[in-house]
Amino acid sequence: MDIKNKRVTVIGLGNSGLNAALLAREKGAEVFVTDSANTPELKKAKLELESKGIEVEIGEHTECFVKGSDLVVVSPGVENSSAAVKWALKEKIPIISEMELGYAFCRGRIIAITGTNGKSTVTTLIGEILRAGDKRVVVCGNIGNSLCGEVSKIKDDTWVVLEVSSAQLERIERFRPHIAVILNITDDHRDRYRTFYEYFNYKLRIFSNQQADDILVLNYDAENLRRLKGLTRSRVVFYGKQKVAGNTYNISAYVKDEWVCCRLNGKEREIVPVVAIKLKGVHNLENVLACSLVGALVGVEDGPMREAIKNFKGLEHRFETVDTINGVEYINDSKGTTVDSAKRALESCEKPVILIAGGKDKHSDYSVARDVIKKKAAHVVLMGEAAPMIKKALKNTVEIHEADDMYDAVETAHKLAKEGWIVLLSPMCSSFDMFKNYEERGRVFKDAVKRLKNSLHGVKT
Ligand code: ADP
Repeated sequence: MDIKNKRVTVIGLGNSGLNAALLAREKGAEVFVTDSANTPELKKAKLELESKGIEVEIGEHTECFVKGSDLVVVSPGVENSSAAVKWALKEKIPIISEMELGYAFCRGRIIAITGTNGKSTVTTLIGEILRAGDKRVVVCGNIGNSLCGEVSKIKDDTWVVLEVSSAQLERIERFRPHIAVILNITDDHRDRYRTFYEYFNYKLRIFSNQQADDILVLNYDAENLRRLKGLTRSRVVFYGKQKVAGNTYNISAYVKDEWVCCRLNGKEREIVPVVAIKLKGVHNLENVLACSLVGALVGVEDGPMREAIKNFKGLEHRFETVDTINGVEYINDSKGTTVDSAKRALESCEKPVILIAGGKDKHSDYSVARDVIKKKAAHVVLMGEAAPMIKKALKNTVEIHEADDMYDAVETAHKLAKEGWIVLLSPMCSSFDMFKNYEERGRVFKDAVKRLKNSLHGVKT
């Protein structure tokens, strides 16, 4: 892509927009950035960009900023309903995502990971496996550091392990990962997409430009992914928890005799015993299978792969045990922002659960969690904006309690819990009604657990 002396406008000034603007400037473009919000962070970013000769407007979008651009780059957080996007569409200006811009200048080989849940866990573990195998690796994308910001570190022999969200796939053109991984696609982001199929189809774009020498890794256990085999030019390889009789689908990573195994080119490899995996839950076994398969495809030996998997303790706020107080285990799954992730978390609990849920509603269908809640939860404690909707969807399942805030929720759960039970925060919702983000929500949960422990042990805080 040649953008030298072209007028490039970036919409959205978060981490992605900031790095897209800097990359476009470095490649010789005349760069403009527009963001409708006005926060202290944006003011700081504005100053940084202005010092590099980039013009920035914050607090509003104005048409003149967009008009006359040769190219518009959108950050993933920007909605298609944004006035700035609409002006670009009206003027028929080409619009690409930040990731597409980064891709245009990226020299390495890309392993792109998408899915509704598990992206960050899998992206991180693949990075660890490749590093253990002495590969040159850059881990980036939706996980926090945008591809545009990493481009300068990427050499021809670098493996770029890239977490990809549906929003980033909305405006791609040539983006072509050498290995694409789809973990699962379940109901999410009903606030952004009109239907599930719209969301589903954006996810599939991850392999839309792949060719015969590329690879698509799919989760065989996710039924709606199996049939994709016929829709791609690339080579499809499956992973699945069970080795299917006859293995007609050629499942290449599976569990056999309690070992994670891979079979590529007719040779079976024993990667790691299931008991040695520190990550808890069935969903994490699926994640480890995906990571092992990618490791094997990239050519990492069994030894380093085993060590990397055995050493990986998982990420904060994902089914993370915080403490055990009076025989009750407190688990922080604050990143469980979808109904499916909460279902998976509940399925992974082998003891009665008190589920703390609620937050900002994403127009999700909470009733799909009824069965697992009936089976696994003794009580549900609700908080936040979505509480009335969840309460309605869970009618006649288990006893529902309401809490004013996280401290109240933990206190309520503690009073209800019996020895040997689990208190699980897995909210099924995003956090923005009460917290800055899911990290802050998880930290407050952990603080509430700590305070509870101190109060029970008579420690003054
Ligand atoms: P993402 O980056 O896709 O949001 P994370 O790895 O951050 O994924 O995990 C988000 C939530 O989903 C956590 O609650 C985690 O326990 C759960 N989770 C992780 N892997 C899976 C999976 N394969 N299937 C369903 N839920 C998962």
